[in-house]
Amino acid sequence: MSYFKEREAEISGSLLAVLSGENIIFLGPPGTAKTQLAKNICQSIEGGNFFNYLLTSFSTPEEIFGPLSLKALEEDEFRRKIEGCLPTSHIALLDEIFKASSAILNSLLTILNERKYHNGKEIVDVPLLSVFGASNELPEENESLEALYDRFLFRYRLTYIQDDENFRNLLFRNHDDFKPSLNIPVLAIYELRESAKNLPVDPDVELIIIELRKNLQLQEIYISDRRWKKVIQVLKVAACSSGCMAVDRTMALLLQHMLWNLPEEREYLRKVVFELVVSGGISTEKLRQEAEDLHAAASIALKNELSVKVICDSCGEEFLLRKEIETHHLAHKNHSYTLKKDGVSQIYPYDNLVREIDSINEAVGKKSTLTLAQKEVFEKEIESLVDRIRRVKCRLEEERELLRILIEKNIWLSILDRKEALMLHDSRSIELVEFDTIISKVYSMLGLESRQVKPKSQFAEEKAKIIVTDSLSSVNSFMEKIGSRLRLK
Ligand SMILES: [Zn+2]
Repeated sequence: MSYFKEREAEISGSLLAVLSGENIIFLGPPGTAKTQLAKNICQSIEGGNFFNYLLTSFSTPEEIFGPLSLKALEEDEFRRKIEGCLPTSHIALLDEIFKASSAILNSLLTILNERKYHNGKEIVDVPLLSVFGASNELPEENESLEALYDRFLFRYRLTYIQDDENFRNLLFRNHDDFKPSLNIPVLAIYELRESAKNLPVDPDVELIIIELRKNLQLQEIYISDRRWKKVIQVLKVAACSSGCMAVDRTMALLLQHMLWNLPEEREYLRKVVFELVVSGGISTEKLRQEAEDLHAAASIALKNELSVKVICDSCGEEFLLRKEIETHHLAHKNHSYTLKKDGVSQIYPYDNLVREIDSINEAVGKKSTLTLAQKEVFEKEIESLVDRIRRVKCRLEEERELLRILIEKNIWLSILDRKEALMLHDSRSIELVEFDTIISKVYSMLGLESRQVKPKSQFAEEKAKIIVTDSLSSVNSFMEKIGSRLRLK
């Protein structure tokens, strides 16, 4: 079923928001099927009441919370008839939410914060699982609207459907024929939240969150402690509903939908989250530095040895090392040099001389002029580096398998997320292959036999087939997965 193609991340986010009792906001143009999405998710909840309202600056509390009860007024009481309105709904979609007037805002904030509604003297427990907010754009600076925005933990930016066929489906399909494959009882959702509370969080997830917080602060993206706490609870619900025994680091990939404030921060957040989650604590940066240093050291050592005879044509000084020519040139800029090669002498100005020496060195590179002792030092260095690279390679391979297993278990990741996480991991293995190339260069520069361990060829093939689980692109297939978890109880 191709319901809501291109909306995979939003659908999974909506469900996770409902299961964890958080609110979700969609920023974007009207006509992006938000109402349908919220309604269909509500249909999947047993006995779920759906409330849908398009706010304008003229909307009154009556329209959201219910009309005043005349009977109560006769008894001098100010009470609303809340049946069928926001205070009795399980899922509510409030379109153009930032148009809410101050008369609505106060009660709305209390409902969003505490799931309570003050109806006259009575405080009513609101059964609300999740509010879906929608808006074209973020509000201008306004304290109470900012407070309202802060109540939405999940944040998505919707754009128009890109694919022609998907667009046609959206236009010409009758959306009323959606039949939810599952009815989740509200009680099961509460149970899920309860058992999620006790789920342990893997230590690497703690590290990722601490690193992420530091990183975002440097970018002046501030997240309140209250928000961080909610984030952890959502990750626990995500792990619990995926049937995991602990919150593993792939759950942290979901943070990309919770921690941005401005839409332009999204891309950055996503990038940082992926890097932190995928790195798995293995850094290839130090190895790269060492390989490059070794290459530089070898070329300096080689360059310094002159394999030809060079004499200053102006003052007759003879040179053994390249460094000596450089020093001489700095002191006597206008001197030219005689280079004797195969019994032939030729005079060069300094710049041309350097170029000539380089090309000669390159040609004789394989029979380097380094002493045996020098070669041995280099050889030891290279061997130790090759050994470390080999060990990191093995770790990366093990790590990839682990990451793949975790990703497969995590039901909340979109196909795109799965692909990208594994591709990011693989890009680091490709980097290691680059190190091999540098090392082969050093070997051949020094005239040494390459003793590298070839990378396992099976790895390259593995890289090509990124394993992605079956499509999760419909509400129903999601519900089935979640349903099977809930039914286990
Ligand atoms: Zn000279």
